[in-house]
Amino acid sequence: MIIVISSGHGKYIRGASGYLDEVDEARRVVARVGDLLNAGGNPTKTYNDDISRTQSENLNRVVSYHNSQTRDLDISVHFNAYKTTSSPMGTECLYVTQQSLSAKVSSAIAGAGSLINRGAKKRTDLYFLNNTAKPAILIEVCFVDSSADANLYRTNFEPICLSIVQAVTGQSAVVPPEPPVTTPPPTTKPTIKKGSTGPAVRELQAGLNSDTAPAWWSTATLARSPTPQRATTRLRAI
Ligand SMILES: [Zn+2]
Repeated sequence: MIIVISSGHGKYIRGASGYLDEVDEARRVVARVGDLLNAGGNPTKTYNDDISRTQSENLNRVVSYHNSQTRDLDISVHFNAYKTTSSPMGTECLYVTQQSLSAKVSSAIAGAGSLINRGAKKRTDLYFLNNTAKPAILIEVCFVDSSADANLYRTNFEPICLSIVQAVTGQSAVVPPEPPVTTPPPTTKPTIKKGSTGPAVRELQAGLNSDTAPAWWSTATLARSPTPQRATTRLRAI
């Protein structure tokens, strides 16, 4: 399945804000869901509007992007707002034609995020749903002005993104591998003492006489640092 997924509103056309900022979080969800979809073999394009300065320009630009792509499904990601509350509010998914898919997505997000399932809601007044040419859904992940929702969303961000992928594709999500952790190679340089001779000493002398020391020299210097603990503490304090 080929998918286009975009975030609601834009860089200059901000959405709702409260305990969460709608635009910032919608962009996070779009990016992660896009990565997961691509990793699972569902070619996906993501879109965020960084240009528009008015709401109508924003709606037009987002929908034009979707309609310019070859795809099977259009997804828009939003966050809801009502009033500031500590009570849980929940997740919902809006549709014009995609009742069944919307119900699946809403239920999946609710399960993954421990959010209230508000379910699939038919909305015939939304520009995105009315003007995208392919089957479309609009996800309202949770309420930005509910502290309970915001906490559940933050805690369950990854399961929520995985659940969207599973509900949309009907497949288990493939989690992209973490980037490899790079560890410096063990140094094989000999210890240089007073009176030492040989290639390592010549290399060291050449390094000290030039602007750039050999690569291993800085490593060796760091490794000899007598206060690694203090270095860690300083980093944390920034
Ligand atoms: Zn919105």
